Amino acid sequence: MGKFDAYKIDLKGMKENTYSCEFVLDNHFFESIDGPEVQKGKVNVQLRIRKTGGIYDLSFQTDGVVQVTCDRCLDDMDQPVSSSDVVKVKLGSDYSEDGDIVIIPEDEGIINVAWFMYEFIALSIPMKHVHAPGKCNKAMMGKLNKYLRTSADEEDGWNESEAEVPEDDASEAPQDIDPRWNELKKIIDNN
Ligand SMILES: [Zn+2]
Repeated sequence: MGKFDAYKIDLKGMKENTYSCEFVLDNHFFESIDGPEVQKGKVNVQLRIRKTGGIYDLSFQTDGVVQVTCDRCLDDMDQPVSSSDVVKVKLGSDYSEDGDIVIIPEDEGIINVAWFMYEFIALSIPMKHVHAPGKCNKAMMGKLNKYLRTSADEEDGWNESEAEVPEDDASEAPQDIDPRWNELKKIIDNN
């Protein structure tokens, strides 16, 4: 049995034109799906399916809490999430998309909703997320402030020594660092 078999919905096997079910997505779910935005949380998902013509409307209502990193102190924080999303699905010859309609192979007639649910939750996290006023990790804030000051000093020092480099070499100095290199550096620094 696959990790996400519990999230398979047998659309073709629906006996009525409506169907509903509920999922509770917990830490285990988020760890298994291993997405970049959320690793922990507890979210209830209500899924209602309505079939009209050959189209299945899958309505997802998510409500819960996920753990994300606070933008200010970098500690974990609980972020409430709530979203309502609809996915339209129809049966066809192979996996594809037709405008905003997801097509799944007719001979299987099954859709796995695990990644849809993950995406809806991830997309509902606000761009900026910080602890409520006064709730940030003070020790961490102190360390971060100290670190930021230190690296600012180092940068000043680096600039000074750079100024002493003969002019020929100075023109080769990476003053305007390629943004892609910055991204790469972040990855290296994290390891
Ligand atoms: Zn914080």
